Amino acid sequence: MKPIIDSHAHIDFPEFDNDRDALFLQMRSVGIENVLIPGVSADKWQRQIQVAKQYDCYYALGVHPWYSESASTENMSDLRGILKLRKGDCRLVAVGECGLDKLHKSNFTTQLNLFKEHIHIAMEFDLPLIMHVVKAHEEVIKCLRTESPHRKGVIHGFYGGPQLAQQYVNLGYKLGIGGLLLNDNAPKLQQTVAQLPLESFILETDSPAMTPKSSQNNRNTPLILPEIIKKMANLQKKSAVRISEQTFFNVSQLFDL
Ligand SMILES: [Zn+2]
Repeated sequence: MKPIIDSHAHIDFPEFDNDRDALFLQMRSVGIENVLIPGVSADKWQRQIQVAKQYDCYYALGVHPWYSESASTENMSDLRGILKLRKGDCRLVAVGECGLDKLHKSNFTTQLNLFKEHIHIAMEFDLPLIMHVVKAHEEVIKCLRTESPHRKGVIHGFYGGPQLAQQYVNLGYKLGIGGLLLNDNAPKLQQTVAQLPLESFILETDSPAMTPKSSQNNRNTPLILPEIIKKMANLQKKSAVRISEQTFFNVSQLFDL
């Protein structure tokens, strides 16, 4: 089996402070070779860089839409500064997570301006985008069409149906598929995974969030990835080996790993 990469895990969060060493050992013993740690807010960037260095992980820097109201113009110039400084850092592979979330109380115009700023930064530094999109697909698709970032990116934690998925795929974007797929009340997502070409997907868990309903734990970890692969294999009517090979290829290609 090809190694597995979790393209979205907040492994820098304090939820993992007590057993991060053990978790990485366990992950690597079952073939989960690496994780990509997405950025959330400026105050967490240094800790993220430190964890990524210590465990030899990939990372991305950005401001999640939930934190858009507390993000300052200095944060964005700091982001440019760090990206310039770390131009040769092969672990820094994307800008994000960033995006739009209509279920969150943050002012939508503020979110939109910050999202566009992230797209511009991704274009300046020749990096792909990691996007968080909730109930704002029309606006995100419009931004991506207008700005047309050349390295494209991923819609992480994708939950939509095949039609919406196809719109992103037609624009050159990947869909991040995670623990939601294991919940039986996500029929639209299951249709998407069954119908779209395997080239459209990368794997993720969004750990420690998004714990599958079937799980006994209240913390999600990358260790659920083999279960997601198995479910994808069933829906795609392909072998688990084929799923892991293609998704490994997809993630490597998108982030130039
Ligand atoms: Zn996330």
